[in-house]
Amino acid sequence: MTALLEVDGTSKRFGGVVANDAISLTVPEGAIVGLIGPNGSGKTTLFNSIVGYHPIDAGSIRFRSREISALRVPQIARLGLLRTFQQTRIYGGLNCVQNLLISRSTRREPFRQLFTLQGARGRERAEELLEFVGLYEKRNLLAGDLSFGQQKLLEFAMALMSEPDMLMLDEPTAGINPTLINGLIDRLKRANAEFGITLFVIEHNMRVIMNLAEHIYCLAHGELLAEGKPADIQGDPRVIDAYLGAH
Ligand code: ADP
Ligand code: MG
Repeated sequence: MTALLEVDGTSKRFGGVVANDAISLTVPEGAIVGLIGPNGSGKTTLFNSIVGYHPIDAGSIRFRSREISALRVPQIARLGLLRTFQQTRIYGGLNCVQNLLISRSTRREPFRQLFTLQGARGRERAEELLEFVGLYEKRNLLAGDLSFGQQKLLEFAMALMSEPDMLMLDEPTAGINPTLINGLIDRLKRANAEFGITLFVIEHNMRVIMNLAEHIYCLAHGELLAEGKPADIQGDPRVIDAYLGAH
């Protein structure tokens, strides 16, 4: 088991709020790892720290054994580590294929080449990935006209377009209907199995994360509360208390 991502004693505070307090965790290459915890427990902050969105106050973050905590978002993306957001980030005024072509520029090609030299190959790949997420029929529709769930699928396809080695998803199923949720879980598993993409997933829906992840970390009040296999986490009194206490 090779560690792809190693978070080692990472802390982040915002003024008086300690959002992450000396968190250590590992994501093995090829794995699907979950991150859970009540609202405000520091999950998104940890993702933001990992992908270089803001500097950390203490600790170390390594990707393929390389220290990345001083790098910025685009540099980390070029190393093959990408994230999606709790709120979708799509270009509503562009069609689905165009959204994928633009997202590819983050890693592979300069923006200006997308519609010219590499255009045909890029378009072919974009259509394959839209097929993969079940949006092929919608490929020429404006992204802004898709349902929220379909926009989430589009955002997932956009991330795949950059061929990440590891993808971090922040609440991918939030706000989408149960039918699309099952489809998304299935696609996430296939992206892991068929494309070899390591997944690190924040998820609020317990059923989803228990079904998806092979190892789960649970945060509470900015600290790592528990970790283990889904069945262990599900029955862990500390985890149950943290969730009950939050409501
Ligand atoms: P989660 O994703 O688990 O719901 P967050 O990481 O978003 O939790 O938030 C953890 C804590 O950090 C919360 O108390 C939140 O208010 C605070 N926080 C997060 N981001 C910021 C920010 N940019 N500025 C100030 N406080 C923040
Ligand atoms: Mg969050």
